Amino acid sequence: MAENVLEVRNLVKRFDGHTVLNGLSFQVKEGEVLVIIGPSGCGKSTLLRCINGLEALDGGEILLRGERISGQKKKLHLVRQRIGMVFQNYELFPHMDVMANLLLGPTKALGRPKEEVIVEAERLLARVGLSDKAHALPRQLSGGQKQRAAIIRALLMHPEILLLDEITAALDPEMVHEVLNVVLGLARDGMTMAIVTHEMRFAEAVADRVIFMEHGGIVEEGAPEAFFAHPRTERARAFLTSFTFTREAKT
Ligand code: ADP
Ligand code: MG
Repeated sequence: MAENVLEVRNLVKRFDGHTVLNGLSFQVKEGEVLVIIGPSGCGKSTLLRCINGLEALDGGEILLRGERISGQKKKLHLVRQRIGMVFQNYELFPHMDVMANLLLGPTKALGRPKEEVIVEAERLLARVGLSDKAHALPRQLSGGQKQRAAIIRALLMHPEILLLDEITAALDPEMVHEVLNVVLGLARDGMTMAIVTHEMRFAEAVADRVIFMEHGGIVEEGAPEAFFAHPRTERARAFLTSFTFTREAKT
């Protein structure tokens, strides 16, 4: 049985007395891809931000490989090295070329030799079709290219788990595919991930398990085949239906 990489226990988060995460619990095992879906405002981003230590918890705890990481301010920088995160608008430093952006974390935070990181960065850039962009500035890249570079930047830290928060939400449709294909490749290679997405076909393709959230709680959890074909709850059914279009017959 695979080891739990991440364990979230009874997580509670409030903003101004308003409960945003309502005591939710789940685990992500080694090599597993967990997809988290749910309506806007249900707490998905807050959940990922709590896991990554960007938000303090109001209750519960978070464990990384069995070790408690929540409420440990002194260890926060270490936690962020072990958990990779890519956001919807992951800003690369605008004045630095792609390679300089990629080298920053591994050389400064991890102290890895620059030459070694360059070799790895070049290999990853080639893998995502960005070999010719190593010395481009971020503004010279398309949104899809920037997001692929941001994924590589996270991977170069050798995270134990990668958190992706709607990483294609700001992209033009033709760029969505190129980014999601990179993520599918990572999943095939066994990368442990927790992915928030509104791309339902991608979610079904990439997920080992799906969590459907509403109002800061888990409403339904299951295998993607079962969840997408036969959601058990009315709420999940209504949510999934909102992604389909039907042409009403004219009368
Ligand atoms: P989702 O990512 O599912 O759309 P979020 O996690 O961004 O949802 O937000 C969940 C709820 O928490 C929303 O009602 C949002 O307005 C609120 N919220 C998020 N961040 C903050 C914050 N920093 N301060 C106050 N309220 C916040
Ligand atoms: Mg969000």
